[in-house]
Amino acid sequence: MRTKLAAGNWKMNGTRASLEQLERIAAVAGNGPSEVLICPPATLIHAAAEVAGPVGIGGQDCHAAGSGAHTGDISAEMLKDAGASYVILGHSERRADHGESDALVRTKCRMAWSAGLKAVVCVGETLEQYEHSNTLDIIGGQLAGSIPDEATGHNLVVAYEPVWAIGTGKVPTVNEIGDVHDFIRARLERRFGAGVGRSVRLLYGGSVKASNATEIFHTSNVDGALVGGASLKADDFVPIIEALNASND
Ligand code: PEP
Repeated sequence: MRTKLAAGNWKMNGTRASLEQLERIAAVAGNGPSEVLICPPATLIHAAAEVAGPVGIGGQDCHAAGSGAHTGDISAEMLKDAGASYVILGHSERRADHGESDALVRTKCRMAWSAGLKAVVCVGETLEQYEHSNTLDIIGGQLAGSIPDEATGHNLVVAYEPVWAIGTGKVPTVNEIGDVHDFIRARLERRFGAGVGRSVRLLYGGSVKASNATEIFHTSNVDGALVGGASLKADDFVPIIEALNASND
């Protein structure tokens, strides 16, 4: 059985005042069977971990090196030390804004694991790739290139996030989401064996909100969601957590 996961990515949003939202999320996070994760900006990780209760805290990126002359960057060990248990890697905004390649994401993933963090590795096609029906080719390549050989159900979560669905209000059909998640599951089983392949959790991300969460959570091989905008406010995120809990019934 895979424990479902509702993960929030606050991106470059939030100051200490935002911890009130986290506290409200924490107040309900232990009420159901799903795991809840919030990835605030790095400046809030330490303070967030202190008020998170049952909510896990994650970073949004880490450097590929353990330490050194990398001004402005943050290492996996620093995230762990600040109170994080997860880190998002290879988010499409990092791939686009910072030119992150699959090979770099793979190196970061190894670094995260060596620091004791779980990695949420993001994959997803652009609108152009989607319109040219290249989605599965792109996802297959990103999975092969971004995930190290040492993956397990414990250290890895994969998030399928179509780039064109992030922050746009556009969402693939549930059939499309199901097809991609089935494909990712098959690829993981082929590469890592059925035991590991079946134990890795697969999240959908891209404009998830309370009104579409239930339908998405009942889709094949969807084990939860990575949520951006709708994770910033407890009033928006709590109903998504509740929809995920209800999908266990
Ligand atoms: C994201 O950036 O991971 C994301 C899914 O954003 P949104 O929910 O706002 O589309």
